[in-house]
Amino acid sequence: DPRLHGIKTKIRVVPNFPKSGIMFQDITTLLLDPKAFKDTIDLFVERYKGKNISVVAGIEARGFIFGPPIALAIGAKFVPLRKPKKLPGKVISQEYILEYGRDCLEMHVGAVEPGERALVVDDLIATGGTLCAAMDLLERVGAEVVECACVIELPELKGRERLNGKPLYVLVEYF
Ligand code: 5GP
Repeated sequence: DPRLHGIKTKIRVVPNFPKSGIMFQDITTLLLDPKAFKDTIDLFVERYKGKNISVVAGIEARGFIFGPPIALAIGAKFVPLRKPKKLPGKVISQEYILEYGRDCLEMHVGAVEPGERALVVDDLIATGGTLCAAMDLLERVGAEVVECACVIELPELKGRERLNGKPLYVLVEYF
């Protein structure tokens, strides 16, 4: 698809951010280009429209940028998966291991019903730990995760292999 090249060129790579040795994929430059941003959303919408998805779950923080326009366009609800102590209601929590230390995602109890078909959205998959925690939350409340969708994949980190066979759809790979 010719739109993919345009999207890739709008993602800025920032060396040594947030720490030395990391090549940070910055999607804020993609958001500055209305055509490339719209193409990004359209590609996801074309893939998921008519697939009976009732929930788009977006991961804090950049999943909150791409998830809602996809949800609106496919007629699904949007559910934020947040870092600890941000959601005011009763939550379920899922811890996950990072390179150094651990983190946690939370979801409001009652936001997703058993049997719902869910799409998980984030900007980027690296090791896959974050997407795994997101899928665990949804599956713990009885939802079916149809697919995970990210703008960018770092294939060398083999995050895809950590998803227990769950399909992952990405627009751009960065080696
Ligand atoms: P993982 O859990 O797959 O190792 O890391 C993915 C999470 O870290 C995502 O929520 C993503 O937003 C964030 N992340 C890690 N590296 C980058 C990066 O280079 N650019 C951006 N935009 N996010 C990153």
